[in-house]
Amino acid sequence: MNHNLNAIEISGIRKFYNKVREVNGAISLTLGQPDCPVPKGIKEEIVRALEENKTVYTPNAGIDSLRREISLYLKERGIKYKEEDICITVGGSEGLYSVISALINPKDKVLIPNPSYPAYENIVKILGGEVINYSLKENFTLDIKEIEKALEENNIKVLVLSFPTNPTGAILSKKDREDLFNLLKDKDIAIITDEIYEALCFEEYYSIAQKEEVLDKVIYVSGFSKMFSMTGLRVGYFCAKEPYMKNIMKVHQYNVSCAPSIAQYGVLYGLKHCKEDVKIMKEEFIRRKDYVVNKLREIGIESVDPKGAFYIFADIRKFNLSSEDFCSKLLYKGKVACVPGTAFGSRGEGFIRISYCYSIEELKKALNRIEIFINSFK
Ligand code: PMP
Repeated sequence: MNHNLNAIEISGIRKFYNKVREVNGAISLTLGQPDCPVPKGIKEEIVRALEENKTVYTPNAGIDSLRREISLYLKERGIKYKEEDICITVGGSEGLYSVISALINPKDKVLIPNPSYPAYENIVKILGGEVINYSLKENFTLDIKEIEKALEENNIKVLVLSFPTNPTGAILSKKDREDLFNLLKDKDIAIITDEIYEALCFEEYYSIAQKEEVLDKVIYVSGFSKMFSMTGLRVGYFCAKEPYMKNIMKVHQYNVSCAPSIAQYGVLYGLKHCKEDVKIMKEEFIRRKDYVVNKLREIGIESVDPKGAFYIFADIRKFNLSSEDFCSKLLYKGKVACVPGTAFGSRGEGFIRISYCYSIEELKKALNRIEIFINSFK
């Protein structure tokens, strides 16, 4: 076996999701899967592609028309990657894996936020790299000084950013983008920015990739699992300049050949015609987020108001339980499943992640149960 796997555990998110089945009638607020269906037009386009037998390999980097459309989509957001800088992947997951595989050698140091999406850290570990964590401000936004310090103290090869953030819902401010740019512009470093929740940014969107002067250092990873509610259809992408692109492509090619053909045609349709569906979904998420944040506050649980994605990272420190114990008790006694903050790193201790991509009715039921559970502490 690969010895590096000894340090890897199954995802804490999945662990809790699986536990829900053990508890009859439990409500799960654990997964990152929008509850709305794939937009109708995308479904029809996928069926059309299937009937037209577009079921063969696509080019390794994906169908040209989709790469072109993504280039246009990003341009509208101030990000200037050309069609040839874009490769379609099997979800953002494969994008992350292929990118990190291409960038690091064993023992190379990768600077990763803590807390953050668990894949970054675990991919680096599987590949034999070394994880260095940087902490965030109290409100989960970037603490530039922490990054600066980590860069001074370590020979960092890759910096990972992710906005809007899973599990906190934090976004990048204009000031943080400028500070990051000033810090990184003269550094010899690769910057991976995972922006898979970009379409669910509730305030103005800023990204380090908008700074053209550093675009040759930036590898932008994104996808359509969240934007078009199509987690099972597996389409993502990464953008990179040379020499990154040519090398990441080697991993991507031998790993997956290409992303699913018919789903790529569906996404192409979605980018052209389904903006309204995305807008409606985003408005609905904002409504739910407001409901959950307010209700939590009402029952005495504080959380930073998320500015994107569909998660709330709620503060449970006052209950004097580890986040794992809190979630276990909440599940077995209160019949609601949330994810312990530690599933996202050691600095997630004292927090739980509540996913609000569930109907308002389900959220109301779950929050009422949480209220009863909290009252049992008094
Ligand atoms: N990045 C982040 C931050 C995520 O939360 C996820 C999925 N939860 C992914 C990447 C991967 O998503 P997918 O492979 O479905 O595109």
